[in-house]
Amino acid sequence: MAFFGKNPKISTSKKKNDIVKGLWQKCPSCRGMLHELELAATLNVCPKCQHHLQLPAPLRIDATFDADTFQEFDAELTSLDPLKFTGPTAYADRLKHYKDATGLNEAVLTGFGTLHGYPIALGVMDFRFLGASMGSIVGEKLARLIERATEVKRPIVIFTASGGARLHEGMFGLMQMVKVSGALARHAQANLLFISVLTDPTMGGVMASIASLGDLIIAEPGCRIAITGPNNAKEVTMQDPPRGFGKVEYFQEHGFVDLIVHRRDLRDRLGKSVQHLCAKQ
Ligand SMILES: [Zn+2]
Repeated sequence: MAFFGKNPKISTSKKKNDIVKGLWQKCPSCRGMLHELELAATLNVCPKCQHHLQLPAPLRIDATFDADTFQEFDAELTSLDPLKFTGPTAYADRLKHYKDATGLNEAVLTGFGTLHGYPIALGVMDFRFLGASMGSIVGEKLARLIERATEVKRPIVIFTASGGARLHEGMFGLMQMVKVSGALARHAQANLLFISVLTDPTMGGVMASIASLGDLIIAEPGCRIAITGPNNAKEVTMQDPPRGFGKVEYFQEHGFVDLIVHRRDLRDRLGKSVQHLCAKQ
């Protein structure tokens, strides 16, 4: 519900604490000053404390696929406004703002390419676009990617980062959980591999669907994952959440996450996993 009510105006600038002068920003973990070039060299990982900052989807694709192999699908698809949602700021205005700010048409990029020479299907969510909430187009692009991968028998890797379902679209947003999960079920029935990579944060309806359905679930260090936040959990269960609740390290200790992998090692780990697990497919 954070999209509603709190701030009626769309803020186009980053928080003052996060930006000092243009090319510099503060690490949200250690508060060290980080230069843009320094971050570019580390894929947005703080060199001082190894905190993993969010990574825009185009950079993630460059960092994952073999060079010049990305073939994007459905780039032209863009959300409509089925509920004519107004709220403090009209949904249509929000969409325009985030398109201009990110250069993307929606909060996910999908396509085919190769990883270590192996053909894969890749979906990458981009938190900069409306918190990468899963609306009808995010769900449709992911479902089409999965169906294409099933048809030509390719493994899928999906990087998730999301605040959950897109509430501006009401039931149209919630329906995407079912649609994408159904497509993944048919991919699994075809005996094909799906690797889910959780990045900070992966929450709500995305956590309750795509993110948790991987045959292999990998996460970046320190990323926050939850279906609901600690305050809601406390309200429902009438007790304090366990220590570490919401952090990926907690979920690895309890068997939900298979691997936590540093961003610098992620491409190699994914490449080896795909080649190993698909060797007999
Ligand atoms: Zn830091």
